Amino acid sequence: MTEPLPAELPFLPYGRQSVEEEDIAAVAAVLRGDWLTQGPAVAGFERALAARVGAAEAVACANGTAALRLAYAALGIGPGDAVVVPSNTFLATASAARHAGAEVAFADVEPDSGLMGVAEAEAAIARARKAGWRVRALAPVHYAGQTAPMDELAALAQAEGLALVEDACHAIGTVDLSGGREVPVGAGRPEVAAGSLTVFSFHPVKTIAAGEGGAVTGSDPALMARVRRLCNHGMMREPHAGEGFADPEAALDAEGNANPWYYEMVEPGFNHRLSDIHAALVLSQLGRLDRFVDRRARLMALYAGRLAPLAPLVRPPAQVPWCRPAWHLCAARIDFDAAGRTRSAVMAALRALGVGTQVHYIPVHRQPYWRRRYGDPVLPGAMAHYDRTLSLPLFPAMADGDVDRVAAALERALS
Ligand SMILES: *Cc1c(COP(=O)(O)O)cnc(C)c1O
Repeated sequence: MTEPLPAELPFLPYGRQSVEEEDIAAVAAVLRGDWLTQGPAVAGFERALAARVGAAEAVACANGTAALRLAYAALGIGPGDAVVVPSNTFLATASAARHAGAEVAFADVEPDSGLMGVAEAEAAIARARKAGWRVRALAPVHYAGQTAPMDELAALAQAEGLALVEDACHAIGTVDLSGGREVPVGAGRPEVAAGSLTVFSFHPVKTIAAGEGGAVTGSDPALMARVRRLCNHGMMREPHAGEGFADPEAALDAEGNANPWYYEMVEPGFNHRLSDIHAALVLSQLGRLDRFVDRRARLMALYAGRLAPLAPLVRPPAQVPWCRPAWHLCAARIDFDAAGRTRSAVMAALRALGVGTQVHYIPVHRQPYWRRRYGDPVLPGAMAHYDRTLSLPLFPAMADGDVDRVAAALERALS
């Protein structure tokens, strides 16, 4: 009677998609149908997503990076402008602004939660203005599934005349409570006059998967129309008075109706469309979002209990009071110095015990491209967060006992 060594159990990655037979059936139905792209699955997903997050509209697109690119472009952000981006994020939040021609004003984060607060955003705005940039937008990142303090950030955006682009790639299903009301992430902040858009990713490590997929949600009809147009070559099917179409005779038939072949381009756009194959998968997954969120919450509660004896060397992610998170990452806080172990040694020891981990994130302002461009802005919160973060396995198919396994492996790896 010997218990299996942890290494003989299946490897636990830090995140993994949950695909079930109903997802496979939904994708197969698209493959048997008439539309592989620009068909009813995309439209159905857009309607379901908008309803789920409480936005007037959703535009599905190829991935989260494309969603960011579309959001910045639809807001008219370009050269000479700057976007405030917390340094604790994935590369894309910043790169997409640069692709629009804008500068990135990196903001610090609170070291325990990894979130950008108002003080950090204000400091970044001040630095950007000193550099002579026109600050146009705040791009808070809802790191690990918790919202940045949105009520205060929306008030700051409104006071400074800035737009809001919420990077909610980690946070579908999270509910923001910061204004004393329940606002699902994705509903945005219609009170922000310069524009409010939210972006999502449906990469397989995120909470619901499309394979590759993303979306922009919002409630301003003109802004969302521009997102939709930019996603599809800047093209419109209907002649638009006021948009300045060049050739009315090509556009209209004798009765003044649009010719059936007509399309017009009002600005250069992208092909950032989502296919119906991917839309069918993510629509099917959206139907299980509540189950995924509940399961992740349950696993996080188990982690809190199992990691408690490892304090103060190990602490579970710091929970902020102003949201009900749909946890994307279990970003534990580990004092590697006090443990006398390097993070890479701990990761290797965990891996040998069958436990996958990841670091979210190397602060983006430290990347070679950005250092060449801006030097080394001092962002101590982002560096302190980075020094101690380690994302432990968290995905809906994990068993309760897997949390025990991870905690036991972590205890061994640190001792
Ligand atoms: C995943 C992610 C993105 C990019 O999404 P993709 O779908 O991979 O392009 C952007 N921002 C954050 C915070 C992310 O986690």
